[in-house]
Amino acid sequence: LSPTALPASELAPALARAGVLVPTCAPGVYVQDARFEAVVQAVARAVRAKAAGAERLRFAPVMPRADLRQLGYFRSFPHLLGSVHCFCGDEVEHRALLRAHNGGADWSGADRASDLVLTPAACYPLYAALAGRGAAPPNGWTVEVQGACFRREPSDDPARMQSFSMQEVVHVGAPLSVLTFRDDWVVRAENFLIGLGLSPRVEIASDPFFGRAAAVLKRAQRTQALKYELKLPVSSDEHWTACVSANLHLDGFTNAVGLEMADGEIAHSACVGFGLERVALALFRTFGVELDRWPEPVRTRLAVM
Ligand code: AMP
Ligand code: ZN
Repeated sequence: LSPTALPASELAPALARAGVLVPTCAPGVYVQDARFEAVVQAVARAVRAKAAGAERLRFAPVMPRADLRQLGYFRSFPHLLGSVHCFCGDEVEHRALLRAHNGGADWSGADRASDLVLTPAACYPLYAALAGRGAAPPNGWTVEVQGACFRREPSDDPARMQSFSMQEVVHVGAPLSVLTFRDDWVVRAENFLIGLGLSPRVEIASDPFFGRAAAVLKRAQRTQALKYELKLPVSSDEHWTACVSANLHLDGFTNAVGLEMADGEIAHSACVGFGLERVALALFRTFGVELDRWPEPVRTRLAVM
């Protein structure tokens, strides 16, 4: 244990006091200072290096509602979705809105759901983009993506943000190549975290599905070992936080967007997702608030300062 390590209960207060990660009035939405941002960017750089050879694509923090619908998101995670609503009224409606606004009443009535939603995971906009290219080449595609994600899960736990950033490496290709990619990345991600001086635990996991089918979906996901999580102690020593996940989608997404291999075989997909703030928080927890007191190998590895 590093002498500068923070107890779990001290992580959020210490970061807030130091001005590194400061809460706003909305739970799970933070102000990050240059030190936090430097660590997040350093982790992102290190992941990028690990994914050398992958094509790089960047998407907006919003994506077409139609594309998310096609992936079936609304069936599984309606409770996590952030939807973009915009004022679409005329001047009469604007006057009514202003009266409500100035009187302190609810003035959101004139907002209508737009054709955009907030991106819930960095890889979601990728599948439609790849489908637009036609059939996958023999070796498939391997793409590195990074972006702002939104999930409606307000919490005071600094590791559970509503707005956070995720870096993913995604492979779309023949079923066996995709399975191998996912399994390889469980090990690569584990070594990556160990290389940063962290001690992850690898677990089979399931997603927080919504509604009546949730129990069945969770069980199926676990028995088929579709999702692995790499967990670290961040804001609790009893309940470790998933900082990286490695997911096998089988043909769930590829089928939805009509992605095939050139020989007509069905394509599969898998992704490994790094929660950049979560890895950063695990580092602050393990080595303390002051970056210049972090162990030399970790600083060198991340090239911070
Ligand atoms: P998931 O798609 O749920 O497997 O998420 C991929 C990765 O994003 C996780 O392993 C976390 O590191 C990160 N992540 C998920 N939800 C949050 C959140 N609410 N706040 C911060 N990071 C998150
Ligand atoms: Zn993904």
